[in-house]
Amino acid sequence: MSTGEPLIVLEAVNKWFGPLHVLHDVSLSVGKGEVVVVIGPSGSGKSTLCRTINRLEPIDSGTITFDGRPLPAEGKALARLRSEVGMVFQSFNLFAHKTILENVTLGPVKVRKEKPAAARERALALLDRVGIANQAEKYPAQLSGGQQQRAAIARALAMQPKALLFDEPTSALDPEMVGEVLDVMTSLAREGMTMVVVTHEMGFARHAANRVIFMADGQLVEDAPPAEFFANPRSERARDFLSKIL
Ligand code: ADP
Ligand code: MG
Repeated sequence: MSTGEPLIVLEAVNKWFGPLHVLHDVSLSVGKGEVVVVIGPSGSGKSTLCRTINRLEPIDSGTITFDGRPLPAEGKALARLRSEVGMVFQSFNLFAHKTILENVTLGPVKVRKEKPAAARERALALLDRVGIANQAEKYPAQLSGGQQQRAAIARALAMQPKALLFDEPTSALDPEMVGEVLDVMTSLAREGMTMVVVTHEMGFARHAANRVIFMADGQLVEDAPPAEFFANPRSERARDFLSKIL
């Protein structure tokens, strides 16, 4: 689905947490409409990589550009970047004291200055798209984990992002709810959303990803189409990792 035009570009990115070199000369280009799955052992830097892309984490060297512009460090430009790069976390991160509908309309009204009635109408359409329109007036705790994560995806989509980052979106879910969230993500991928997805769901990687990236110790070790990666991982570390999770 990629148009070939780059949307997210990292060049020689390095980041340390104190003495820990957590991103090591990471270079990566994600084209518009492309779906990139990031896999790798715990602690390899996958979450940090995601967080640098919407500048939840600053980097120490290298460059990151989004849609042709360097990432802004602060102010309105940073707020705009954050609205253009949606993020979905393992832990849903919905506002507990707001209804599902309020969770989805808050950003569009406060940040995008949409009229409340218009934001509400779009939010209801998005909740319908992720299959939980009938949960709009409930509070997060009244929903199952799978429903909450679908609400979090609707909330991210409500900002009309140019890209979505997913950090282990199904890892906190009971097994029977994983499929409903992956189905929503798969349909977004098919519709051409640019996505970076950290996940251990290899079925999703095989069927929805254009590329699989394998990270280890802060380095991007492999970057290949899923069929090629799964059939013939080139590095010993990737083979070892796959043998443990497949
Ligand atoms: P992954 O998502 O692949 O499990 P992370 O990006 O979360 O890896 O973490 C990479 C490494 O950086 C780990 O060793 C982790 O302990 C460390 N780390 C992550 N966040 C911080 C932080 N805020 N301060 C210090 N170390 C951190
Ligand atoms: Mg992580």
